[in-house]
Order: sequence, then C-alpha cells, then structure tokens
Amino acid sequence: MEVPGRRGVGRPKKTWKNCLIEDMRAKGDCRQPFQGGSFFDHEGLPYCETHYHAKRGSLCAGCHKPITGRCITAMFRKFHPEHFVCAFCLRQLNKGTFKEQNDKPYCHGCFEKLFG
Ligand SMILES: [Zn+2]
Ligand SMILES: [Zn+2]
Ligand SMILES: [Zn+2]
Repeated sequence: MEVPGRRGVGRPKKTWKNCLIEDMRAKGDCRQPFQGGSFFDHEGLPYCETHYHAKRGSLCAGCHKPITGRCITAMFRKFHPEHFVCAFCLRQLNKGTFKEQNDKPYCHGCFEKLFG
C-alpha cells in the first residue's frame, strides 16, 4: 500500500503561478493558483494537489479527489476506502470480498440478486 506524502511541496527557483497542467493542454483546464507559492512537484514540474495526484495516479475513482491516507486499489483504480462501495446498494466494500461486473464492484448479495 502506498501512502503519498507531501515531500513534493517546495519552492521553485522560477516563480510558478499556477498548476502546469493547463500549459500541457491536458484534459480539463486547471487555473488553480499556488497558495503562498507552494506547489506539488512531480518530475520537476509544478502541479496543484489534485493534478499532482492525478499524475501519480492517486486520485480516488469514486470522488476524484486526492487520496492521502488509506487507499484501496481495485480494478486497476484507486479509491478512498469509504468510496469503494457496491454499485447497487452503495454499501462499503472490502478489497478481496467484492464481485466485479461490467467494470463495477458489487457486494456478494447484490451480485447474486442481479447476476446470479
Ligand atoms: Zn491543477
Ligand atoms: Zn474518494
Ligand atoms: Zn450491494
């Protein structure tokens, strides 16, 4: 399990004003200014917290917010533990005890009801 730290926060030699993701013409425009000049460094380039985690692949697939604490990796995606829920009854799931159908996680009960 990987727990991303905040080691990347720093001050650049050059003054970056906002997240570089917009300059890279990435999906979605980011105009997030850096608060007090601090930013998240990924491979020498400055990003806001969200895009730093997006670059590192540590955004929650449920709420699309950064995962900084515990993290569940399932179906090649990452989730906050509380956002890894059954697609039908929305009950929280545990890694290893869910069933997958059409790229969505289900609890055993729902899976049996819907697909069993
Ligand atoms: Zn950004
Ligand atoms: Zn989440
Ligand atoms: Zn369910």
